[in-house]
Amino acid sequence: MFHSAAAKLTSGYLAIIMALSIGCSVALYHVSSNELAQSAQRPVDLYNVVFGPSNSTDINNLRLRQLEKDRNSLKVNLLLFNIAVLAIGGGVSYILARRTLAPIEEALEMQKRFTGDASHELRTPLTAMRAEIEVALRSPELTKNEALKILKSNLEEVSKLKSLSEGLLTLATTGGNDNAKEKVPVRQLVETAINQVRKPAAAKKIKLSSRVNDVQIVGNPQQLTNLVAILLDNAIKYSPPSSEVSIEAKSKDNRAQISVTDHGQGIAAADLPHIFDRFYRADTSRSKKNVQGYGLGLAIAKKITDLHHASIEVKSSPAKGSTFTLNLPRVN
Ligand code: ADP
Repeated sequence: MFHSAAAKLTSGYLAIIMALSIGCSVALYHVSSNELAQSAQRPVDLYNVVFGPSNSTDINNLRLRQLEKDRNSLKVNLLLFNIAVLAIGGGVSYILARRTLAPIEEALEMQKRFTGDASHELRTPLTAMRAEIEVALRSPELTKNEALKILKSNLEEVSKLKSLSEGLLTLATTGGNDNAKEKVPVRQLVETAINQVRKPAAAKKIKLSSRVNDVQIVGNPQQLTNLVAILLDNAIKYSPPSSEVSIEAKSKDNRAQISVTDHGQGIAAADLPHIFDRFYRADTSRSKKNVQGYGLGLAIAKKITDLHHASIEVKSSPAKGSTFTLNLPRVN
């Protein structure tokens, strides 16, 4: 598909270059041809002035022959020039066409990969549900208890599908045209985010502590709350029960700094460069098997951070814990 698009674009660019080159050559030929006719007439006029007016056909023939020769040589030169333009213009047009198409090609490739990954993730719970339902339908003496077990397991898969589709939707819609910007007090933002994760924290008996200074930032309050909630949620998910997760917010230079620290499993150095990629999950047996997720949380966090001209940094030591730090533009 891209080869034919590149060929079409190349011929388009080349057609423009050749139209300009041929147009200029025709104009140049006419102007130069007139100029040549006038300069060929000059010696004849001089001859007439010196020797008196004469009807000598010799000098006229000589003049016409010289003019014809000059015009032919001009035509050949212009033709050679246009052939050179065609050859060089072809190369330049191809390079320009490839350059124009490169970002589109890259975006399409990313889109394709994303769709492939998303369908793969959607297929896994669907396949599990289908297998269970098929086995149940084939069993002639399905007891009520067995049916309830299957329904319960299917409900779990449906919940996973729901959270996956919500994640995908958030990723797709974050950063649309409605990216409202407001002054947001960090204290309020942190409080709302903490309230969102109270339930999973309580389930693991994790203590949530916060130390938040009075700082204001500008941005979309809902997205910013979501950003902090994603970091808190991960800190809880990847921490052992009864540990502590702390959140700290302060102003530093012209920035507001929000950091979330946990004392959990940490992230291996090899995984650190990839954790913000969509669908990436570090391959530690504990996190992949026991912790539910699709590797979308940090991709959403990164998108929100970029939209707010902010940065996100991670410091982590395996088996000791991690600190995710956000640096957001502050309001004075
Ligand atoms: P997930 O749904 O898997 O949590 P995320 O995009 O939020 O997806 O995170 C990507 C991966 O980064 C996780 O699978 C996990 O391996 C790692 N990770 C993120 N936060 C932490 C953390 N606080 N502690 C340890 N590992 C983490």
